[in-house]
Formats: sequence, structure tokens, C-alpha cells
Amino acid sequence: MNAFPPHNRVLPAADGLTEAERTRILAKAAAFAPPPMQDADGRRELVGLSRAELEAEMAALGEKPFRAKQLWHWIYHQGVRDFAAMSTIAKPLQGRLAEHFVVGRPGVATEQTSQDGTRKWLFAFRDGQQVETVYIPEEDRGAVCISTQVGCTLSCTFCHTGTQRLVRNLSAAEIVGQFMAARDSYGEWPTPKGEEGRLLSNIVVMGMGEPLYNYENVAKALTIIMDHEGIGLSRRRITLSTSGVVPMMDRCGAELGVNLAVSLHAVRDDLRDEIVPLNRKYPIAELLDACRRYPGASNARRITFEYVMLRGVNDSEPEAHELVRLLRGIPAKVNLIPFNPWPGSPYRTSTPEALRRFAEIMNAAGYSSPIRRPRGRDILAACGQLKTESERRRRDA
Ligand code: SF4
Repeated sequence: MNAFPPHNRVLPAADGLTEAERTRILAKAAAFAPPPMQDADGRRELVGLSRAELEAEMAALGEKPFRAKQLWHWIYHQGVRDFAAMSTIAKPLQGRLAEHFVVGRPGVATEQTSQDGTRKWLFAFRDGQQVETVYIPEEDRGAVCISTQVGCTLSCTFCHTGTQRLVRNLSAAEIVGQFMAARDSYGEWPTPKGEEGRLLSNIVVMGMGEPLYNYENVAKALTIIMDHEGIGLSRRRITLSTSGVVPMMDRCGAELGVNLAVSLHAVRDDLRDEIVPLNRKYPIAELLDACRRYPGASNARRITFEYVMLRGVNDSEPEAHELVRLLRGIPAKVNLIPFNPWPGSPYRTSTPEALRRFAEIMNAAGYSSPIRRPRGRDILAACGQLKTESERRRRDA
């Protein structure tokens, strides 16, 4: 029997505070809103508009709704940016579109490709803000790790991005734009038929920022990415990673139904309070309850628990046993991540022996617990490092 609620179940409030908490989180997101998406000439960005918004823009030009459908196809299926190349649209209308709109991409401030094929970009937006995006190739597929905020409000002590203050949220255009620019880089246009055999086959929302603190823009971006007449990646190929913004997890599951990853990193509240300070607000028990009721989770679609292995801090055998106990009843897998040190970081990587023992205990209890191979070690691979390095160079110039 599947003990987990189906995707469309009406969810109970997580607790008495949830509604108030949700309102507070959404208000905070608005305070860090991105600037209007338009270029220096005042032309509106079409990437990142919902289908309804695109139709409204066409209506304002006196055009029928099918124009929005045509544009959608050119933008998200063909990857075309130049209106003059949109051959199903008559020349005079192409001209009018070019007067009012633009189909943009973030600028590439830096691009590095590792010996192992990992590619990392520092993308720059119109207001000069920058974020990192990473492509991680596997044998027959590859995941793009995208960012959702410039900086982060949370200060997870193992995370380099956590040392950067939150500047602002990214817009839907800037979130979708990272994936589209990554596809430009590999020339993967038009969108391949079906989902098999794509080079850029998966998305992990795991880059800079806490996605559930920018929920509206993230949801809009992922809805665009999942639209089957455009990029057409199914929700099964998208994983959103949160440090545990409990009041938004139900909504994410019910509305988007994407795979969930949780940055756990500790099995005791006192330690997690330190490593992932958001734990002081949403402690482990509450977080795991939200996981238990996450819609769509099943043995076929397990929740991933991220666990960064910090030497002598969270990597003991009793902690592995406690993790087994905590995860009981949750369809879970565990990613054990050897800590990737950055200059000034307070931690060291666990020994191979500690990693092996921890993984053995988890595997013996029936939890798939791969030890993640470090990727892109020869480039600045710790999330946030490329941005810090670029800022340092700009300061020193
Ligand atoms: S791990 Fe994620 S939530 Fe925590 S500081 Fe880093 S970017 Fe922010």
C-alpha cells in the first residue's frame, strides 16, 4: 500500500502558524523582488512570461491568442531569439514585435569547463548582478544546477554562498534563462523529441539561494520549463532542493509536484541549528513531518536527503544509525557529499573510512546512499566561489 498521499490531495495546514508564516515568507520575497524585465530601450522581455501574460501582450498589440502560441514555440521549442527568424510570423508583425519586445539571455561573465566535463558559468543580468549555473554531465544525460537568488539569506556554515548577503530574488526570466543559456552553450535546440537522449536532461534547483524563499518566481519558471510545447522537461526530471522552509513545502509539492531534496546535514537539532541555522525556525521533526506528507513521494520517487560529510562533526556511526531511525516511514535516499573546502571554511572533509562506514550503515538499512564523486575539482566548484572570485577581481582591478 502506498502510505503517501497522491499528488492532488487537498493538504491540511502544516500547523497553526502555517498561513501566517506563508504570508510572511511571500512578503519577504516581495521585498527582494527583481527589477522589471526590460532592456535599456524599454522593450519587454518575453522569456519568463506565462502563457496568459504572453497572450495579454499580444492582445495589447491587437493580435489573436494564437500568436502567443507561435511565439511560445519559437522561444522555447526552437530557441530562437531573433524575431526576423520566426518564419511563421509575417514580416510586418516581426518588425512590431522587435519594437516592443526582446527575447533575451543572461550574459556570460565567465565560463569554465572542467577536465571531467563539468561546465560552470557565471551569468550576468541586466542590472549587473551575477549568479552561478553548473552543468554536470553523466554518461547518457546531464543535469543543470540553477540558482534562484543572488546571494542567500540563510547562512549554512558549510556553504560558500551562505557567506554572501542576499541581494535580490531572481525573476522567472532569469531562472529559465540560465537553463536556456546552458542549452545555447551545447547547441541543444530545437528541443529534442521525447526526454531520452538529451544532453541537458535534468534540472536541479540547487544553486545559489533558497528556492522556497523565492517561490512565486521559481514556480513560474518551472511551469514554463515543464510546458510540453516548449522545453518539455517533466516534473520527474526536476529536483528542487530546500534547506527546510516547511510552510512552503506543501505548496511546492501540490502545485509543482517536482522531486524534493532536503539539505539535512545533521541528525540532532543542536548541531543542525549550527550548520543549517534555518533549523531554529523549522526543527528536524517538523521538517521530516513535511517530508512525510510531501505529495507525490513514493518508493519510485524518493525524497533525497543531502548530507555533507564533515570530519568529526556529523560523520560518526551513531549518527548514521540515528539517521536511519529518523527517516523511517519516508521514501528516502541519501546523498553523502564529501565536503568541498573553500578558503576560510571551518570544516574538513570526512576520511574515506568514515564515509564508507556511514554509507554501509545506510545501505544496510535499505537506503540507497551513494557517496557523491566530487565534480569539477579543477575549477572553482564550491557553489558561490566563482562569484566571489569574480567580485575580488573586479575590486582589485
Ligand atoms: S546551502 Fe543553500 S540555503 Fe544554505 S546558505 Fe547555501 S545557498 Fe543558502
